[in-house]
Amino acid sequence: MTELASAPGERASDSNGAAITPINHWIDGSPVPGTSGRTAKVFNPATGRQSGAVDLASVEEVDAAVQSAKTAFASWRGVSIAKRAELMFNIRELVHDRKEDIARILVAEHGKVLSDAMGEVTRGLEVIEFACGIPTLLKGEFSEQASTGVDVYSIRQPVGVVAGITPFNFPAMVPMWMWAPAIACGNTFVLKPSEKDPSASIFTAELLKEAGLPDGVFNVVHGDKVAVDALLEHPDVSALSFVGSTPIARYIYETGTKHGKRVQALGGAKNHMIVLPDADIDMAADAAVSAAYGSAGERCMAVSVVVAVGDAADPLVAAIQQRLPKITVGDGLDPTSEMGPLVTREHRDKVAGYLDSGAAQGAKIVADGRESAPAGDGFFLGVSLLDDITTEMDAYRDEIFGPVLGVMRVGTYDEALKLINDNPYGNGTAIFTRDGGVARQFQFDVEAGMVGINVPIPVPVAYYSFGGWNQSLFGDSHIYGPEGIHFYTRGKVVTSRWPDPATSSVDLGFPQTR
Ligand code: NAD
Repeated sequence: MTELASAPGERASDSNGAAITPINHWIDGSPVPGTSGRTAKVFNPATGRQSGAVDLASVEEVDAAVQSAKTAFASWRGVSIAKRAELMFNIRELVHDRKEDIARILVAEHGKVLSDAMGEVTRGLEVIEFACGIPTLLKGEFSEQASTGVDVYSIRQPVGVVAGITPFNFPAMVPMWMWAPAIACGNTFVLKPSEKDPSASIFTAELLKEAGLPDGVFNVVHGDKVAVDALLEHPDVSALSFVGSTPIARYIYETGTKHGKRVQALGGAKNHMIVLPDADIDMAADAAVSAAYGSAGERCMAVSVVVAVGDAADPLVAAIQQRLPKITVGDGLDPTSEMGPLVTREHRDKVAGYLDSGAAQGAKIVADGRESAPAGDGFFLGVSLLDDITTEMDAYRDEIFGPVLGVMRVGTYDEALKLINDNPYGNGTAIFTRDGGVARQFQFDVEAGMVGINVPIPVPVAYYSFGGWNQSLFGDSHIYGPEGIHFYTRGKVVTSRWPDPATSSVDLGFPQTR
């Protein structure tokens, strides 16, 4: 958790006199300053300076947000589908128009470069656009004359108050994965964003209000474990979506389901990219570099391990190595930067530690990001490449979540496949080959939720669903797309008959349709 800062309401300044912005909750359509007496520091990762102090909610503040959502649910669920769709279109227009403003907020608190931040908002926007189709998505089924004079039909209704708990690495997109379908389905929402980069959620709340969303339908409470536990235990929260690291995802799933909630909890990842000897090596190297170092490796779909099969290894490592010096690392607002800093100093130092442990455990450091990192107080680490990693090394076993790519050399496709299927995670994976038969076999065999064939970061488009297997997902439902609509609704089946004296009689037998 982020270290505690000054008391709430106190408009502090840093050692250079720069203002530190208080970041409040958003409850019932308005910003609400925290009253818990606890705040956390928010940094600009490119400068290393504190820029904000975010309120950390108490149990009472979480309850206020849930009560607002509960009250709003009573009327929101009755708003016509046509009106809800119209609102989603309004939201879509506003988010589209303010895309760059959102992206700049992401750069300021997360550190990713502006072009990447724009990409994040665009991918989130796709989920909002999908949710604009809610009239079609909520269509039920109808069976006329299931029995004589009897019709049967199914409808899907919203579940109630839904909570979303989100990670630092996509502060706009991952919440959009949740609130857009949840609200379109007729639920009301309480978002608990990452306390490391919380401002995008408040900007989103303002946009939703401007779009015409009624107060209380979307609320934001900032916080740490206190706020999360309050949501997990709250009797008026019906369903909970979580995206974050695996240990917390497991905890969320176990605690939320124990309290009777519907839970989808997406966890961490260790994504492997297999490169076969027949692959286009330049294409594979471009893909590995893009997927390993984009967003400084802080993506759950980042490629973390390249598995080079047979003769692919030497030319592939050489091709990757050749590309690394050209990557410009710097402030995300500098248009020449391709990779920004890491989110916090602690995380940067942890990621850098894998270079030491990798070398000590026998890996070869081909590129050392500590040497190429820009000078200054920003949380920078340059691109790093470890060759000859093995399954025993920390750099292989842990999700590094930084710009460190490992190369593992294996002899055969079967060894590469086994490596992936033995790994505890199962989020994304990719194979690079010209052999369609092998690629098709890989798609059949591999134990991962999202597969790329000559595609490095196979994040599904909005009309499919996103989710991993094994310890990358706890719960049954993937997120957004059709599974998202299913998760945020519950089914009801109606059997109906209209009075017809000709068919009415007393019959104590079990109803039959024939
Ligand atoms: P995290 O698990 O530390 O935090 C996620 C959320 O949980 C935050 O809102 C945080 O405040 C809260 N949290 C943290 N510790 C908690 C605790 N002890 N009890 C209750 N709540 C707690 O994750 P992060 O560092 O913000 O994000 C990076 C992780 O998220 C990586 O592991 C990454 O793979 C994962 N991630 C997964 C996906 C996916 O779709 N599978 C997508 C994005 C990120």
